[in-house]
Amino acid sequence: MRKLLQHVTDPELCIQCSACEMACPVKAIKAFFGRYCIDAEICDGCNKCIEECPTGAADRFIEVSEYYSQDQQSQWQKLPG
Ligand code: SF4
Ligand code: SF4
Repeated sequence: MRKLLQHVTDPELCIQCSACEMACPVKAIKAFFGRYCIDAEICDGCNKCIEECPTGAADRFIEVSEYYSQDQQSQWQKLPG
């Protein structure tokens, strides 16, 4: 099966500062119940969120067979896999 690389935020490192949401030029990041989640369909890979994130939480990429939605990501206590 084809593997995709999905850009995500790490729930165990995120301090919910919202810097990534403010930095994203295409509004791909939204807070869902306090979890800052990236919409894979909108993200264009500019990496501005990674540059602004103070903890490294935004610098995470996971291999998936299909993208997790923001709703799904908001349920995570830690990254899958
Ligand atoms: S990589 Fe760029 S487009 Fe994607 S979520 Fe981060 S700031 Fe937004
Ligand atoms: S910038 Fe980093 S620590 Fe702040 S909300 Fe985004 S992912 Fe979490």
